[in-house]
Amino acid sequence: MASKTILELKQVDKFFGDKAAVERISLEIVEGEFFTIVGPSGSGKTTLIRMLVGMDTPSRGDILLRGAQINDVPANKRPTCMVFQSLALFPHMTVGENVAYPLKCRGIEPGARKARAEACLTLAHLPTEYYDRPVTQCSGGERQRVALARALAFDPDILFFDEPLSALDYKLKKLLEKELKDIQRETGKTFIYITHSLEEAMVMSDRIGVMNEGRMVQIGAPREIYRRPNSRFVSEFMGEVNVLPVTAKGGKLHCQSLGTSFEVPPGAQETDGVLIIRPEDMRFVNGEPPVNGVLSGEIFNEYLLGSRVQYQVRAGGTTLLVEKQRDSTAPDPAAQLTFSPENSMLFAE
Ligand code: ADP
Ligand code: MG
Repeated sequence: MASKTILELKQVDKFFGDKAAVERISLEIVEGEFFTIVGPSGSGKTTLIRMLVGMDTPSRGDILLRGAQINDVPANKRPTCMVFQSLALFPHMTVGENVAYPLKCRGIEPGARKARAEACLTLAHLPTEYYDRPVTQCSGGERQRVALARALAFDPDILFFDEPLSALDYKLKKLLEKELKDIQRETGKTFIYITHSLEEAMVMSDRIGVMNEGRMVQIGAPREIYRRPNSRFVSEFMGEVNVLPVTAKGGKLHCQSLGTSFEVPPGAQETDGVLIIRPEDMRFVNGEPPVNGVLSGEIFNEYLLGSRVQYQVRAGGTTLLVEKQRDSTAPDPAAQLTFSPENSMLFAE
């Protein structure tokens, strides 16, 4: 099935004074996809989404909705777009009145309005009994659902989300992440979602765009971003990693601080730079002949991370991280570490 572009950005810039908050972003979002924009605080995510929604205009470049340029079309003149924001609920209204509000504005008669609002509550996984409940009596998670139900009542083609779950506790956040993905699938709407948490992005997204300092530095499916980050920045943004400075020497990568040489990762160009290894890809050498260089150190700390254990190993003035399943046998405190070349990433520096 051919996928249709719903929203396109062409070389979009946004300047505040002479500082670019968003720089040369080009992007095509496909109808019905869950696209997440992730990046650290200050990377330009909100600035970008404000332009997509129509709350701000680009300094340069174009935004196209189904092929038509919409740069200067204000938010309320873009019937296809809606922001989901629980803070924007009307506190003096009931759940039902909140959800039915956009329908009322469109002049839909009360009977049809109520039926449609109830359908939206159901879509947002809220019981229809909530219709008459004051919104002030709803919990944080329920308010998020009410806000989502109201956004769905607009029946927009695209729903925009700017860090809607960041204020919620961990368990509720995890639950709502999965529900949002389900709701997106059930409704077939295009979701454009912003978060600073790549972990959150991984759960929900069909594709992820990673932002850094106003630029879109990588776009890909979650698995692609995880397995093939295209820069040190993206690989470090994924979570804690081991970073070994290396110099290219005779077909190998030499790490001077640890006095060991490693194989060049398959497919990588031999270069000076950093070799990056995820903690779960570090292994303790258990007698078997290692296929790569070996790092010797002392375990000085261990942490329980749910079903896994993280060991901190001091080696040659640096701290290395190793993660194992909790039920695996306890390693020797005098640790010998290695990793497979295919589990390492090399970035020039
Ligand atoms: P994020 O949402 O990723 O945290 P923002 O888009 O809010 O990032 O901000 C990106 C950069 O643009 C920041 O350096 C911020 O200070 C700056 N910025 C955002 N809005 C304005 C504004 N209205 N005026 C001046 N600078 C702004
Ligand atoms: Mg922001």
